[in-house]
Amino acid sequence: MSVLIVTGGGRGIGAAVCRRAAARGYSVVINYASDEAAAERVRDDVVAAGGKAVAVAGDVSDEADVRRLFDGAAELGDLAGLVANAGVTGNTPGRLDEQDVRVVRRVLEVNVLGVFLCAREAVRRMSTRHGGQGGAIVTVSSTAAGRGSPGEWVHYAASKAAVDTLTYGLALEVAAEGVRVNAVAPGTVETGLHAAAGLPDRPRLRAPLIPMRRVGTPEEIAEGVLWLLSPDASYVTGAVLPISGGL
Ligand code: NAP
Repeated sequence: MSVLIVTGGGRGIGAAVCRRAAARGYSVVINYASDEAAAERVRDDVVAAGGKAVAVAGDVSDEADVRRLFDGAAELGDLAGLVANAGVTGNTPGRLDEQDVRVVRRVLEVNVLGVFLCAREAVRRMSTRHGGQGGAIVTVSSTAAGRGSPGEWVHYAASKAAVDTLTYGLALEVAAEGVRVNAVAPGTVETGLHAAAGLPDRPRLRAPLIPMRRVGTPEEIAEGVLWLLSPDASYVTGAVLPISGGL
């Protein structure tokens, strides 16, 4: 069975990706940072629906944790894909000149270093250069990368611009090695990310600014991720797919 690792798979967009991926036949590794109960709920739902999933704790910014995550996944079967979804805003919305360096460092560690570490492990296992069978990587960026998110979280937006560049550069490096690398760039999506940052009304307030006049659902983002992973996207690499209602 094809194994798919989804970082930050216990909640929000990652959880929707895990559920859809399992329904389409992937054996899913649900990585999470600390919310074990949420990840186990996703795992239990998948198993109850007849799918295969395991929940694995690990901090994507920790090299040893990431190695453990990938080594554990190898026991389930051949790795077919990675969804590098785990990401944080830092939960301190405000101007750049109000930000604490520890918060900014953490956002960069999780959002940029975390994607780097997971993508590196995935390439080491999937690339034909390393004896692998090929595969697909999807990173989760944000339309914030292009907007810059002034007054909210410029550091977060900058981290997502780094994700876009990492995605593009890596895609070119491994294009001839059987590995496709793409990103989705969600707009505003209804998840716990906004309330965690102390902005529970953010989705409602942003909706009128979006051409489609509504925020997205985690399932709508998951569908784009699943397409990029699938053979239907066999000639797509280095792309950043906005899923944002037009904004
Ligand atoms: P969420 O609901 O807050 O979920 C975040 C997930 O990431 C959780 O499962 C969390 O684990 C995990 N995580 C956080 N830090 C981690 C770490 N160091 N190691 C491993 N896992 C970690 O967020 P979301 O809205 O679904 O966001 C998912 C991705 O979409 C992020 O990259 C985010 O930047 C991006 N995005 C979101 C929006 C939006 O409007 N929601 C828009 C654009 C882009 P625990 O459950 O254990 O805490």
